[in-house]
Amino acid sequence: MNIQNFIRPSIKALKAYTSARNEFKGANREMVFLDANENPFDNGINRYPDPQQLELKQLLSNLKGVSTDNMLLGNGSDEILDLIIRMFCEPKKDSVVILPPTYGMYEVLANLNDLEIIKIELTKDFQPNVDDILSLSNANTKILFLCSPNNPTGNSIGQSKIEELLKNFNGIVVIDEAYIEFSQNESWSMRLEKFPNLIVSQTLSKAYGMAGIRLGICFASTEIISILNKIKYPYNINQLTIDKVINELNEKDAPLQQIQTIKNQRSFLIKELNSIDFVIKIFPTDANFILVEVDDAQKRYNQLIAKGIVVRNISSQPKCENCLRITIGTPEECKNLIAILKSL
Ligand SMILES: *Cc1c(COP(=O)(O)O)cnc(C)c1O
Repeated sequence: MNIQNFIRPSIKALKAYTSARNEFKGANREMVFLDANENPFDNGINRYPDPQQLELKQLLSNLKGVSTDNMLLGNGSDEILDLIIRMFCEPKKDSVVILPPTYGMYEVLANLNDLEIIKIELTKDFQPNVDDILSLSNANTKILFLCSPNNPTGNSIGQSKIEELLKNFNGIVVIDEAYIEFSQNESWSMRLEKFPNLIVSQTLSKAYGMAGIRLGICFASTEIISILNKIKYPYNINQLTIDKVINELNEKDAPLQQIQTIKNQRSFLIKELNSIDFVIKIFPTDANFILVEVDDAQKRYNQLIAKGIVVRNISSQPKCENCLRITIGTPEECKNLIAILKSL
């Protein structure tokens, strides 16, 4: 598959803005920087940040086992998903495939870019319908969004289904791995070499506990990354975010202890939810939340609100009628939740 054939012509032809920090790369603290119209008085943030975030990427590269050349950082995964759409999709002409029930941002971003959306519902066990995806796509269908583990259902998509789609979908396959740290599966970022049309998106917002600083990580071929670099804002990751993440990652590696605690609490909640009489079904989960079908989602949602607990009512999504999505909290919060549910 030749990726060049899928890139928007205007993006292919685009000449990127060259910033002062891009033009002069021999950065060295001893030099006098009079090239970017910055205020010269040092307060820690008076300089523009590194547009390539190399120091941060190097740390993430060590952590994730992917080369910095196969990586692009974004202001949350949301920026990454938007950049990918703008790289491949021509407004008013192209389409993308999404598989509801899934993360709402794919649809919002596709609409923002004036794209046609081909919706193909997941099967009743929340797996992609490969035949329908392939037969309903056409020459203008540029991107397929897969979310694994999927939000809001929690399950992973079967590895063989993903492989089949990577081999046979005639376009870009984006795998959103926002919850990968909570699953047993290996990241698809380990297989970039084999699949030129693969883009993987991860985030520091969930397992890493840094939703507040907005950092998403995109993994793809160097060919794709070089174009994404051309279209991103020059200084898309700010200095405060860069400094904070470097600090956090240097201090503690991956928050393994917290992830383990969350997984233990997940097992605890599943066990306890089973004994609650208005719980109808607990869906399998590889994420830090559980999708639960109850007798009356709106009623149970309101009852929980009255007790000071906010969960998400997912009922408006297809195949999720009367379903609540419950995020795994601290052990204390989980204990409390179960006590309240038992008292209703
Ligand atoms: C939470 C979430 C994200 C994270 O988005 P950020 O912009 O990185 O915070 C991405 N994808 C899915 C499916 C999510 O649930």
